[in-house]
Formats: sequence, C-alpha cells, structure tokens
Amino acid sequence: MFKTLEDLELEGKTVLVRVDFNCPLKDGVVTDDNRIAAALPTLQFLIDKKARLVLMSHLGRPNGQARSEFSLAPVATRLSQLIRAKVTMAPDCIGPEVEEMVGKVHPGEVLVLENLRFHPGEEKNDPDFARDLAKLGDLYVNDAFGAAHRAHASTVGVAKLLPAAAGKLMEKELIELGRLIKNPKRPFVAILGGAKVTDKIGVLKNLAKIADIILIGGGMAFTFLKIKGHEIGKSLCEDDLEGCRVLWDEANSQNAAIYLPDDVAVSTEIKEVAERTEVNVDAIPENMMGLDIGEKTIAKFEALLQTAGTVFWNGPMGVFETPPYNQGTLKVAQAIARSNAISCVGGGDSAAAIRQMHLDSHITHVSTGGGASLEFLEGQELPGVAILEAAAAAKS
Ligand code: AMP
Repeated sequence: MFKTLEDLELEGKTVLVRVDFNCPLKDGVVTDDNRIAAALPTLQFLIDKKARLVLMSHLGRPNGQARSEFSLAPVATRLSQLIRAKVTMAPDCIGPEVEEMVGKVHPGEVLVLENLRFHPGEEKNDPDFARDLAKLGDLYVNDAFGAAHRAHASTVGVAKLLPAAAGKLMEKELIELGRLIKNPKRPFVAILGGAKVTDKIGVLKNLAKIADIILIGGGMAFTFLKIKGHEIGKSLCEDDLEGCRVLWDEANSQNAAIYLPDDVAVSTEIKEVAERTEVNVDAIPENMMGLDIGEKTIAKFEALLQTAGTVFWNGPMGVFETPPYNQGTLKVAQAIARSNAISCVGGGDSAAAIRQMHLDSHITHVSTGGGASLEFLEGQELPGVAILEAAAAAKS
C-alpha cells in the first residue's frame, strides 16, 4: 500500500504535486477542464492544510523542446477560476528563477510549473532532471493517474527523492478500477471499441479472464470479423492478422462470451450524411467501410448491458465524431447510464461521450486515464503507483 495525504505533515510544507493537466486547448484556451476539476479535491485539501503548492504536469508532445503552443499557462488561468487560491505561473519547471519563485509561494498558494516535457529529461526519467525537480519541494504527491503508466522523472524519479504519497484522485482511480478486478458484481460486461486492436490486445486477453460478457464494436471489430471469415470491404483492419487470430483464439478459450456486431452502418467515405445505410456483417459491400454498429447490434448490446452487475467501457462504437455514425456510441452510453450496474468508463473518447450527454452522474466512475486504466486492467504494474508502494514499504 502507499501513503496518502492523511499520512503527511503538511502545514507550511512545500508540496510538489504531479497532476495530469494534459487538457485539450484551442486558440490558447482550455476546451475541456475535466482533468483540472478532477485534481481539485487534492489541491483543496492541501490548501486547507496550509501547504505551499507547486504543481507539475505535461501537456501534449512538445518532444523535449519549449514550444509556446504547449504552454501550461492557459491551464493555470483556468485553474485560477476554479480554485479559491492565488495561482501563479512559472516560466519553466526547473532552474534558479523557478526556485526563487517557489520560495515566494505562501501557505495556501499555488505555483504552476511550465510543461515538464519542454525538457527531454522528463520522458527519459533522467536522474539529474529528477533532482532539479525534487529541489522544489519538501514532499511529493502524485495525483496524475493518467500518467501513472509512464516511468518518467516526475512520476518515478522524484518519488525516490522525497517523502511520497498518492493524491485523492490517484486513490479514487485505483479503488474504483480495483473493484473491477476484485470480486466484481456479476455479470461483468466489458465493452470495447475504438480504432486500434493492438492497443487493446492485452486488455482483451485479461478481461476475457475476469468478465462474463465482452461486447466488441468500433473499428477494432472488423479485424475480428475478418478473422471469422467475413468480407469487410474497406473497413479498418490490422496488418498482423495472424497475431490477432492467436489473441482471438486465446480470448475465446477463456470464460467470457465475446460478441461481435451482427450488423453495421456502412459508407464509401467518412462524412456526415442524413441517412445511414446498414447491412448485416456478411453483406459488407467491397467498396464500403463499416463506420458504426448497426441497429440490431445496438439493441443486442443494450439488452446485455441491462443485465450487467458491473460494466467497463473503453472506446467508441463507431466514428462518433461524424454523425450519424455516433449512434452506437451514444446509445451504449445511455444504456450504461440507465443500467443499475457499477459502471466504469475509461478512455478519452468514451469519457467525452458521457460528458457530452451529461450522463456523468449516472456513471459510478469516469476514469481520467485512458492508457493507464487499460494497463491497470491488463494486470500490469503501473510504475507511478509501484514507486509509491515501494517508498511506503521502505519506510515501514
Ligand atoms: P481509440 O483511440 O483506439 O479508442 O480509437 C478512437 C477512434 O476510433 C475515434 O477517433 C473513432 O473515430 C475511431 N473509430 C471508431 N470506430 C471506427 C470505425 N468503424 N472505423 C474507423 N474509425 C473508427
């Protein structure tokens, strides 16, 4: 087990908090502040305890260079509107100027460091870079569940150098996702979609061991339909069909019943149209691609979701950005919200669909971590969590 905020002596201390503020931006403004909101319980707790807060995060992929379009300044602006505390932005995340700014943070105030990934040392987990970060705090708190599957300087390196604890979001994510692995209420229905089979191979294998029913939609379904002998026209398909066949056989040898779509919406191109064309999966025209699950499949998935004791959902059922190919994703989101199941939604697109439809309050847990939640369910150790556990074990 790891330490939590309650285990720390916080008053007057400078707490270096790793948050996941990797928010989408448009024209220098945060367009979705969900990740900032998710960190507020930790930040408010630390403020109430009169700690001095120094926040560090990555944003996007600036590839080790300072690039203004990846600045965290718009995030700091949004945070200042959401929290009852003075928020200041630093011009960098390490160095003498930043150290001086940290020295001026009063108890209950917040300093946001500039994007960690402006330095190549972050993603390399460079010990010197980690040491420069660790200089900025007395204590370290990791609340960035969304980055816990990465062994970076801010998620692992610093945790070795300062007394370390998990924040409230990290704790909540691990408890909620942990419930899916340990004694889930049955039947456990997992529903997977999205474009990439290879990203989800591990989780499909592991879910087949713990779930009772697995529903597969989205672009990834077509690779499996092809393996089962269907012609899939121009639909998405993985190159490594043989590798996927091995996985498919392995997953099917487990306990879970795995369902693929019976029918799909098809088109020659991805563009908005007024009417959908739907066909059975054994009649996909050669020149067309499948862009969503069809009505019969939606009805079947809805019925199975209504029986569920537990639901885990990752990945859209179709090209949900382009109506009318959003129907499968929207109907699945509504069916999960309607069900009495303990429900957990992970991954950017599925979580966005839930929020877009204002269904958040009907979902037990909307995870802030797409990749991290998948790796957790795959049974992999998350480096950012393992180091917190190792730190706690070493002290006890
Ligand atoms: P992922 O990141 O793997 O969860 O994939 C999300 C993406 O999958 C979204 O941008 C969807 O538009 C895309 N997607 C879902 N279904 C399909 C499909 N049938 N064909 C092509 N792309 C799809």
